[in-house]
Amino acid sequence: MTPDAEFGYELLVCRYAELAWHPSEGPRPAIVSRQLGTERRRWDTVVVEVDPAAFSARRAFGDRTIDSDLLHVVRHAPAEWAWYRDALPDPDYPWRYVRQAVHRAAERDLVETRRDGNRVRLRRLRPYPDWVERVVAIENKPNLDASAADRLADQLRHDVATGLADEAWLATETTGDRVEPALLRELPVEAGVLTTDFAGGVDADSATVAWHPSDLSRPAGAGRGDRRDPETETRRLEIAERAYGKGWRSYRETMRPDCRHFELRREGRALVPYCAAKRKVPTARECSGSCPEFSPEPPAWRTNGWPIAGGPGKGIARLLARRRERERDRIRSEDD
Ligand code: SF4
Repeated sequence: MTPDAEFGYELLVCRYAELAWHPSEGPRPAIVSRQLGTERRRWDTVVVEVDPAAFSARRAFGDRTIDSDLLHVVRHAPAEWAWYRDALPDPDYPWRYVRQAVHRAAERDLVETRRDGNRVRLRRLRPYPDWVERVVAIENKPNLDASAADRLADQLRHDVATGLADEAWLATETTGDRVEPALLRELPVEAGVLTTDFAGGVDADSATVAWHPSDLSRPAGAGRGDRRDPETETRRLEIAERAYGKGWRSYRETMRPDCRHFELRREGRALVPYCAAKRKVPTARECSGSCPEFSPEPPAWRTNGWPIAGGPGKGIARLLARRRERERDRIRSEDD
């Protein structure tokens, strides 16, 4: 497939990363997500490399993202009963929000609580594991031209400077040609370059490393063992948690698989959305309820005569959710 939209390309890069991570250093257990980051910087594709045993322990906390307020509670919940204000570090926001988060955490079985007069006490159910090994950012640019290379260079420089990611990559499509070396020279040397050839669909061999990235986790001159500051560590964990809960197939929640024109098409080992009316991969923005060609699947598809309860739209959404589950299941520790 030659991707005709950056969105379609992004999905193929996500699937490639799921199949082939790490592209130059051999297989590493990882989860993949897209469109995550901070207020200042949103990454196209995010790969979170995980420790398999710790990842299994993380899964015991459920399938949903643990958001930043909940993380404050879950990471610091004590082994023995304690008043939440004694047990948790001082937040830089009012305690009443922490109290709400403690209740929310208890409702989700992330911690347990009990009342002692007016005081809410909490205790952990299990320790929150240190499951994130590395966070990798990939920028996707199927058609790299001079102005795109300029913009990307700025963004990648920002990634290098903040050290939020351990590695930054650019993914670009070659369709048989070499990428213009002059464009690559614009990019910071720390960023890796991955040239993809998805003309025959996606598999684990459909990309080549054109430039190896540097490890950004330590500033130049820092020795081994130098750690990031706690605030950066927390931000990385928040991104990893969002990646865990969201995966990269979450477009099923914003696009319209319940439209009769919506299809999933196979591109090698990837499934990508396809609009039969527009004859292309629709963007997430155009494939919405306001699309002029949106046509709800007929009610008959959802009842008699359709083998999947709820009709094809619901079936597609379930299929994509199952794929995310399967990828999480693939990560197992050797002791499992
Ligand atoms: S017609 Fe519009 S809503 Fe329907 S699948 Fe195509 S882009 Fe999506």
